[in-house]
Amino acid sequence: MSFDSLQDLLIHQLRDIYSAEQMLVKALPKLKEKASTEELAKAFAEHLEETENQVARLDQVFEMMGERSGGVKCRAMEGLVAETDEILDEDGNDAVLDAGIIAAAQRVEHYEISAYGSAKAFAALLGLSEIVKLLNESQEEETAADKKLSLIATAEVNARAAGTHPSMAAKTA
Ligand code: FE
Ligand code: ZN
Ligand code: FE
Ligand code: FE
Repeated sequence: MSFDSLQDLLIHQLRDIYSAEQMLVKALPKLKEKASTEELAKAFAEHLEETENQVARLDQVFEMMGERSGGVKCRAMEGLVAETDEILDEDGNDAVLDAGIIAAAQRVEHYEISAYGSAKAFAALLGLSEIVKLLNESQEEETAADKKLSLIATAEVNARAAGTHPSMAAKTA
């Protein structure tokens, strides 16, 4: 693809995000399964639902632009998912694994927040206000997911992983 206009770049960015979101639809159920607390599992389950909606929103965007959605593979998300697998494939202390899963998942959310931010800015410059609105909805979900993971980590998981949380004694034999 030749990048001759901002529109060309926007389409490439959107295809990259589309590829990334599709990888996440496959990855999030594995994160949910590995999570050791109900709260964390629920966060991933909810974000899976949102991610499916994000794919649908992008389908809408491509339809509005009269463009196909395929053709780009997000190599960054491929790498980030591979990093989550490094933890998902291992055994260990539940809290330490949870902390690792959250750290990996937050890298994913930050990538997405950044990707939607650039796409939104380009779409705004091109006067595509309906598309800006749709991209913004998804970006807000990514931001909320990231904040929620921070909260779960700092309120409980990290301290448990550090062995300083009072529930540690009850949780381990
Ligand atoms: Fe997403
Ligand atoms: Zn997401
Ligand atoms: Fe990418
Ligand atoms: Fe996300």
